[in-house]
Amino acid sequence: MEYRRLGKTTEKISTIGMGTWRIGSYHSREERTDQIRTIRRGIELGVNLIDTAEMYGEGRSEQLVAEAISGLRDSVFIATKVLPDHLHHDDVITACDRSLQRLGVRTVDLYQIHWPNTNVPIRETMSAMEELVRVGKVRYIGVSNFSVRQTEEAREALTRSELVSNQVEYSISNRSVEDDLLPHCKRERITLIAYSPLARGAIPTSRVPKTLLQKYGMTPAQIMLNWATRDEAVVAIPKAARTDHVEENAASVSVRFGQQEYDLI
Ligand code: NAP
Repeated sequence: MEYRRLGKTTEKISTIGMGTWRIGSYHSREERTDQIRTIRRGIELGVNLIDTAEMYGEGRSEQLVAEAISGLRDSVFIATKVLPDHLHHDDVITACDRSLQRLGVRTVDLYQIHWPNTNVPIRETMSAMEELVRVGKVRYIGVSNFSVRQTEEAREALTRSELVSNQVEYSISNRSVEDDLLPHCKRERITLIAYSPLARGAIPTSRVPKTLLQKYGMTPAQIMLNWATRDEAVVAIPKAARTDHVEENAASVSVRFGQQEYDLI
């Protein structure tokens, strides 16, 4: 596994993480056991970044992550998110306490604002986030779905912490962040956490050059993940309920392509 520095910190997170949207929702005991096994297999392969949210399955995703990481807390870097409806000061504190309880941990490694909420002053939210850092319930502060302007406002609202990450959609199928957000993240050393890096499973196979598939013996999904994370500022969090998918994803950054090969995509 390849690891990257989180923002300006010395923290190492895996270039390929695990997203958990819809993980924790299942139709049978077997399906649930499979989801836990898949996360544990990812950790075994060196994936340490696990992304969840209080929103996912109304907390069931966090609960399943808790079970999957049982006994493995030191091997994982847990990122969760607070809902935009919970951005007033006291609501942030309560939401974090609930997430900690569901996750069965004392500290969340990365606490992210899931979406901006223009009705709540960002200073109020960030003062709660910094309070959580001060009391040891959160290690790092991040945002998600923030524009460049909103990211800058969030940074300015922090008094003693750095904003380490912005989680946004990025894949071969959606490159809109390349216009301004990705260059901004690179310049300011903010990690861009790419969500839906596999286009939510609608993999555009025809857009992946056959020459690369043959040369590297990779699948279209692996080429997509490798391409999305070609820049040091980016890590990706594909969601995989299937163990073979998590294995494939973990192996996607075992080699790096040449610049001309990335340009082909
Ligand atoms: P995604 O990761 O782009 O795609 C997930 C789909 O791809 C699933 O159907 C999965 O199948 C399939 N898949 C996984 N690995 C594969 C492989 N190697 N080959 C073929 N198919 C593969 O979509 P996503 O779930 O939207 O995004 C990933 C994560 O980003 C989420 O789980 C969540 O943590 C985060 N996210 C954040 C936001 C936000 O607002 N911050 C929004 C959306 C998503 P199986 O499950 O059957 O293995």
